[in-house]
Amino acid sequence: MEYEIVMGLEVHVELATKSKLFCACAAKFGAEANENVCPACAGMPGMLPVINKRAVELGIVAGLVTNCEITRTISFDKKNYFYPDLPTGYQITQLYAPICRNGFVDIETEAGNKRIRIKQIHIEEDAGKLVHDYRPDSSLVDFNRASVPLIEIVSEPDFRSSDEVVAYLEKLRSLLTFADVSDCKMQEGSMRCDVNISVRKVGSDILGTRTEIKNMNSLKAIARAIEFESQRHISALETGCEELVQETRRWDDNKGETYSMRDKEDATDYRYFPNPEILPVHISDEWISEIKDSLPELAHEKYDRLTGCYGLSDYDSKLITSGKNISDIFDRTLEFVDNPKEVANWIIGDLASIAREENKSYDEIEIDCEKFGKIIKMVENKVINRTIGKKVLQLLFRDNIDPESYVRENKLGMITDAGYLENVIKEVLAENEKSVLEYKAGNQKVISFFVGRIMRKTQGKADPGSVNSILRRELNDWN
Ligand SMILES: [Zn+2]
Repeated sequence: MEYEIVMGLEVHVELATKSKLFCACAAKFGAEANENVCPACAGMPGMLPVINKRAVELGIVAGLVTNCEITRTISFDKKNYFYPDLPTGYQITQLYAPICRNGFVDIETEAGNKRIRIKQIHIEEDAGKLVHDYRPDSSLVDFNRASVPLIEIVSEPDFRSSDEVVAYLEKLRSLLTFADVSDCKMQEGSMRCDVNISVRKVGSDILGTRTEIKNMNSLKAIARAIEFESQRHISALETGCEELVQETRRWDDNKGETYSMRDKEDATDYRYFPNPEILPVHISDEWISEIKDSLPELAHEKYDRLTGCYGLSDYDSKLITSGKNISDIFDRTLEFVDNPKEVANWIIGDLASIAREENKSYDEIEIDCEKFGKIIKMVENKVINRTIGKKVLQLLFRDNIDPESYVRENKLGMITDAGYLENVIKEVLAENEKSVLEYKAGNQKVISFFVGRIMRKTQGKADPGSVNSILRRELNDWN
């Protein structure tokens, strides 16, 4: 029997505002525990929420880049539940008038292109965080994250494979990071995803029993969790040994399996009701067009600029627009080196390989682009050769050295003196007569062996162009 997986996604994304959703506390990740807390976000009695205008703006931006209709009068509601990391005992969210509705995102997978429909996007506040491993006998609570603004992007059940889910999340990440809505760092929890999953026989219109998987913090984990959970559903249907129930399950990445959340969260009646403390917000046409006009360049627009205006290849342009960070590095370096092709070569070749050696993803690369530009220029102007350039880049990456003074102090300038190079080359040939004879017998491959020797004798500083021409001349004159 053939089965089909049916999935819908709920993606939570932290908005890149400076302050929280209803107070002036910093919304930054990574502060000391309970550093960014005030009476309002700690849920003290009598405190009133004041809505952060920037959060509403970013909600509108999220809707615009995902082709949604923007709701003109939005309101906020209380979702009541008790949990120690929720100081007020309710979460402020949008049930009745979410900020965006009826959008879509187009994705590409190996199986082809597909449109994923977005049901709605709503703004809500995040909860705090419980810390369990600090003390053996108790749990502690950190309210830094309490009331940090989020959007929840709810899709229709349009996904049929984990490939589609991953492609959608990558597309969302690209759209939202390029539009400066969020940094979408899954490892820091600023992008989180819940998957609603069910399985049915191919051709059937009836949806099977649905489970929701939570607690996944990487694309790899999400793909694995979907594979596991869909197989669990299929074998339950095939064998009848396990009864499928509608429930929320967590993903255990170490064990590679999902397990039922035994708490009653799923069955709770949240007793939603309109929040009387926040007045409805009217979103005018003027405000929307102002936001539209100030939208930053999105990934696909940048791709067009790279291939069109700069003549970069499809491959290079895709790579440079694959993430906001790497794409920003490209643009910032371009301010110092007016040569897009060369900058792209350095990023895709040397910078990417150094990042790999240092176990950093493209998103994690931090580099001073002015200094990076100086290295590229020094190579372009033949002050140093490319090999030395890469070494200097490596040091810039690790220790943020100043490239020019480093080259000067360590005397790494390129050796172009033809007389000097000729002597070195003659020496190398004299030391390796056997290889010279091989060359004379027609073996071109020994050239790279000679170049290696010459570079070693010059500490890698020789001008490769001069070496090549002098070496060939000397070899041909050899007798
Ligand atoms: Zn606060």
